[in-house]
Amino acid sequence: MDAREEQTERIDLLMRVTKKFHISMHASDVVKEIIFVLQEAFPSSLITLHLSQDWEVKNDLPGVNFMYGFENIHDQIQKTYVTGTVQFEETSEPGTAVLYVPLRGRQGVYGVLQILGTYPVMSSELEQEFIIALADLGGNALENRELYEQSRTLVKDLQLLNETSRLLNSHLRIDEIINSMRIQINKIVPHGKVVFVLLDETAKVQDLNDPFLKETKNFEAALKISKHFEMKGDAFFISELTCRPEYTFTGYHSLIAVPMMQSGKLKGSVIILGKEPRAFTFHQFKLLQSLVEHSTLAFMNAALHERLEKMVITDQLTGLYSRHYLEECINEALATDSVGTLLLFDIDDFKEVNDTFGHQTGDQIIIQVSGIIQANIRCHDIAARWGGEELAVYLPNCLPDAGEMVARRISEKVAACTRPRVTMSCGVACWEKERDQTLSSLFRDADQAMYEAKNQGKNQVLYKGIPKDFS
Ligand code: GH3
Ligand code: MG
Ligand code: MG
Repeated sequence: MDAREEQTERIDLLMRVTKKFHISMHASDVVKEIIFVLQEAFPSSLITLHLSQDWEVKNDLPGVNFMYGFENIHDQIQKTYVTGTVQFEETSEPGTAVLYVPLRGRQGVYGVLQILGTYPVMSSELEQEFIIALADLGGNALENRELYEQSRTLVKDLQLLNETSRLLNSHLRIDEIINSMRIQINKIVPHGKVVFVLLDETAKVQDLNDPFLKETKNFEAALKISKHFEMKGDAFFISELTCRPEYTFTGYHSLIAVPMMQSGKLKGSVIILGKEPRAFTFHQFKLLQSLVEHSTLAFMNAALHERLEKMVITDQLTGLYSRHYLEECINEALATDSVGTLLLFDIDDFKEVNDTFGHQTGDQIIIQVSGIIQANIRCHDIAARWGGEELAVYLPNCLPDAGEMVARRISEKVAACTRPRVTMSCGVACWEKERDQTLSSLFRDADQAMYEAKNQGKNQVLYKGIPKDFS
């Protein structure tokens, strides 16, 4: 083959790879094609391909070495990679030489081709030009694949952030927000354990009823992370927790921790734990950081909403529910349940208590009585401040006998435990599905029973209303 024919063949080869690079979307195909062309053009050469990252290229090509990364590597290879220029080197074996050619793109170098061949071929300007042209085509193709992958990841990341914002803004309750966040975070790190540490208004860690944080060691580690963020620390990630005992959570080896900040103030933190060391990538860390930043506002809105809601339904002095809330609950029960009992308490001779000990002590007694009531009912019973020194308890699905028992237990405890001592009179009333009762008829019955209890000497419990043996 004369020089002209050879030249034409080389151009054909370059045309062929260009076409292939346009068709294929995989880095491994690009790399393979470069190797095939080199092997075809220089059959007796020895090729080593150094790649900056593992593009899942299968090392299944005969006679080719694949190397990954550019640390602790031969000087000429490193120089080629760093400067992006071709290097030429004679070897100790006479008549042979090595050519190092960068796989360049517009934004960087993606690898280095190392070709060991005969001296005349490797030093020929024409051959070098061909190899450089081939390597440049390959470098650009790798870069395109890389940019394509990056843009796909970016689009996916943005979609996730967008979806999360929409999801969170459609919920209002904190527990729903926490659940949604868990789901979204697990889309980024499928096996990560997600822990929420939220602070209350006084910057204390809220009890979110998370069994994982009930374990002292875990709680202390979460507290340390919270303290770190309080000192204006940034989000961080640790690949091996055995080196950081202060952040050790039982059974986990790596973590990502992101603060929830609002107007420069720490509101909480999100901790994601991995069972294995190095369970998370830097990309996952950055994405989780964005996700938490985007979600904090929704979190805070929900917390504020819940606080307001609680304020509206809570009596400020006693912490019991408000009368309005109790009425709402009874109305709901009247519509859905078949039976229920109401207890109405009134502290006896309270005017005297106020006159003797002062209004402030009077207030303290109302608080003491409320505490006793709260401690002697079940969690789904509803205790409320009916007004002044009158307190009410609604016992859902409860028959009058059981109601009277509860009322007596409370009255006895109040008489025994309050200081200064007070007693209470209590009226008990009940409603039952078959009878045409309303909220006001139920209260009227309870009020009348209480009035009777006062009349009969106070410090007692009386039942009034529908016959007790209706069931
Ligand atoms: P009785 O045994 O008939 O219930 O006598 P009583 O003195 O309790 O009479 P009554 O129920 O008519 O008066 C209740 C008094 O409770 C009147 C009011 O000064 C006092 N009181 C109502 N609300 C509060 C409160 O929030 N704090 C204090 N310290 N006193 C209250
Ligand atoms: Mg009263
Ligand atoms: Mg009274």
